[in-house]
Amino acid sequence: MSDVQKINVLDLSLAELTAQVKAWGQPAFRAKQLYRQLWVLLTDEFEAMSDLPAGFRAFLKEHACISTLRLLKVYRGDGGLTRKAVFALPGNETIEAVLMVYPDRATVCVSSQAGCPMGCVFCATAKLGFMKDLSPGDIAHQVLWAQRMLREIPDDVDADGMVKHRLDSVERVPGRLTNAVFMGMGEPFNNYTNWRASVERLHDPDGFNFGARNFTVSTVGLIPGIRKLMDDPLQVNLAISLHAADDEIRSAMMPVNRRYPVGDLIDAVREYTDKTHRRVSFEYVLIEEKNDDLHEAQKLADVLLAKGKFPMHVNLIPLNPVDDIGMTRSSRERVNAFRNYLESRGVPATVRIQRGVDINAACGQLAGDAAKALSA
Ligand code: SF4
Repeated sequence: MSDVQKINVLDLSLAELTAQVKAWGQPAFRAKQLYRQLWVLLTDEFEAMSDLPAGFRAFLKEHACISTLRLLKVYRGDGGLTRKAVFALPGNETIEAVLMVYPDRATVCVSSQAGCPMGCVFCATAKLGFMKDLSPGDIAHQVLWAQRMLREIPDDVDADGMVKHRLDSVERVPGRLTNAVFMGMGEPFNNYTNWRASVERLHDPDGFNFGARNFTVSTVGLIPGIRKLMDDPLQVNLAISLHAADDEIRSAMMPVNRRYPVGDLIDAVREYTDKTHRRVSFEYVLIEEKNDDLHEAQKLADVLLAKGKFPMHVNLIPLNPVDDIGMTRSSRERVNAFRNYLESRGVPATVRIQRGVDINAACGQLAGDAAKALSA
């Protein structure tokens, strides 16, 4: 049976898995054992689930799979502290996930779609076009991969002096992921149902038990998705890929702006913060002489403060290199001037530390290595 026909057990909640296990003629308690193997022990092969009878393990191998994603390659960047995984789907589409380790935290950047239909001009993923939505289990699988990978990092520090050098001690590599950000390939709100189900699976206290506040979902500004999230009991964080405050400039960078212009977007975000009392982040890629002069900083502060302050933060991201887009990142002076201007207006802003540029794993770069990894 191919993986397309097999049941992806990571797609199923415990209740769904119980129904499935019963349909397979097994007692309900086997579902609990299987669920614990998948989500607590993070076992990624049925053969290794030693508390399940050998016959059932063999049956599972024939009729089920643990995610349809096949790991093709792991790239190491930043002296081993950044790892990018390239996975293939059954149709050979590729997606990427990135683990970034810091002394006090570990973050995984997760893809929600193969390719992306949104067409942002500064983004490598956009060049692929849209291929397919990922299932809940395949979205969650990337987080489980990162948690497994995190366990391996202290073991290979000796082979990689940089890891030791950049962290005060090996013990400071966090043993547990602290954040999962849906900022990889795809627009999560275009795949809301599956994205949400993946968060539910990962959040389950009887399973992976990842705190809702440790998730951040990023959108280009799909207002219906923002409205859905504000009514959703899941308390995940929201980030908006804004990148320009001027409608003309933003529409040229992000076609979605023609449908949901900046003023409407900020109004929806204010509605969201009024309702949830949660702080929102605005992502702003700085591109030399496109959206980075002080006039643009002024427009940004004006639009954010137009109706009074609300809980928010601006992350400034100097553009990362992407082939053939004909744009360059802002100089350090322009980045600092932009940030200083925002702060002078009372808009909290930081320049995001870049990770993974050396392995094409930074913001906007995902998909660059996918075809290469597939042919490797
Ligand atoms: S920036 Fe995000 S939404 Fe825009 S094309 Fe790239 S992946 Fe899609």
